[in-house]
Amino acid sequence: MRKIQLHWQILIAFILAILYGIFFKEHVNYVSWMGEIFLRALKMIIIPLVLSSIICGVANIGNAENLGRLGLKTMLYYIMTSIFAILTGLFLVNIFKPGVGADLNLGQKVDLEVIGDSLGDVLIRIVPDNIFLSFSHNTQMLSVIFFAILFGYFITRTGKKSQQVMTEFFNAVFDVMMKLTLFIIKFTPLGIFGLVAEKVAGQDDLIGLMQSMGLYMLVVLMALFMHGFITLPLITRFIGKVNPLKHFNAVKTPLITAFSTSSSNATLPLTIQAVEENDGVSNKISSFTLPLGATINMDGTALYECVAVMFIAQAYGVELTIMQQIMVVVTALLASIGAAGIPMAGLVMITIILTVVGLPLEGVGLILAVDRILDMFRTATNVWSDSCGAVVIAKSEGETLKV
Ligand code: ASP
Repeated sequence: MRKIQLHWQILIAFILAILYGIFFKEHVNYVSWMGEIFLRALKMIIIPLVLSSIICGVANIGNAENLGRLGLKTMLYYIMTSIFAILTGLFLVNIFKPGVGADLNLGQKVDLEVIGDSLGDVLIRIVPDNIFLSFSHNTQMLSVIFFAILFGYFITRTGKKSQQVMTEFFNAVFDVMMKLTLFIIKFTPLGIFGLVAEKVAGQDDLIGLMQSMGLYMLVVLMALFMHGFITLPLITRFIGKVNPLKHFNAVKTPLITAFSTSSSNATLPLTIQAVEENDGVSNKISSFTLPLGATINMDGTALYECVAVMFIAQAYGVELTIMQQIMVVVTALLASIGAAGIPMAGLVMITIILTVVGLPLEGVGLILAVDRILDMFRTATNVWSDSCGAVVIAKSEGETLKV
């Protein structure tokens, strides 16, 4: 028998959960535990996943001894486009406010744990005074990321033997964590069933709920379209001096693949091939920028994280201060760097931002239900940005392209 694909499973679970929530209101506790276990499992993997992913990422870049001019340019492009993407999301979510007044049946009221009132405080707290305490406190995610970056960097500064042992070790840990994450993600349909049934059962205004979720999805999609069809083409046109339409045509296949697999990593071979053969980028540039991009350059994911967290905050009735919104932007950027290029990795990362700004993780509940659909669009955006980066950088290195 052919296996039903995960996104269909999720859709089926979603519909069944709504029906269950409506017709078996009183018996919702028979299924709500599944949602709780699923959320706990997601929380369980956050710290080791982020730690190993960032340590590996940083150590591998250093090992390739590529942190020269090319490395700097690439990083600059990646960070700049991700920030543009996040700001587009932040702008639209503040204008449309999809979460305001949305009754998502979020049980507890939040008493926002204030992160710090000044930028100075925030910066000071990024440096952990006890890294083991940070590992055990979900709210100190930034410290964990900070430590991981330093650790990864200094792996590359040690002697040959230590360097090799440590890089291989953390690559292996990361492999294990990716497998473990994929395993947990297989249970998403059950998790969604529990969470959505519980939400629906406690919901008087189901239509209102659907409307808020619809508006939320619309805001994410609009922001992704703005970034993909306006910002990135402008950068490609004016910084790269490449015709964005021709380039789009050249990378159609990887974009469709990204959309249907929801995985930048799985799409990577096709992206490399298209960028080399159709755009005419040299292998030197593509083999450096694209694998790096598939791992750390995730414009769509960064944008999505920001909108999702703002949506949850709005639904909780929490007004985030400018300082906290800046924290959301910075963490969304870091979370997108730390997210693996696999389906639904962005969802795991949202929990990090929520903890950083002090919002309850339960807020993820309904977002989860529509995550898989949005994942397709954000992954395509991620790959589109990687490919634009490759041509922009190739041009800046003086290459003559076909597009
Ligand atoms: N699926 C995305 C990717 O592979 C990551 C994410 O979940 O946002 O690019």
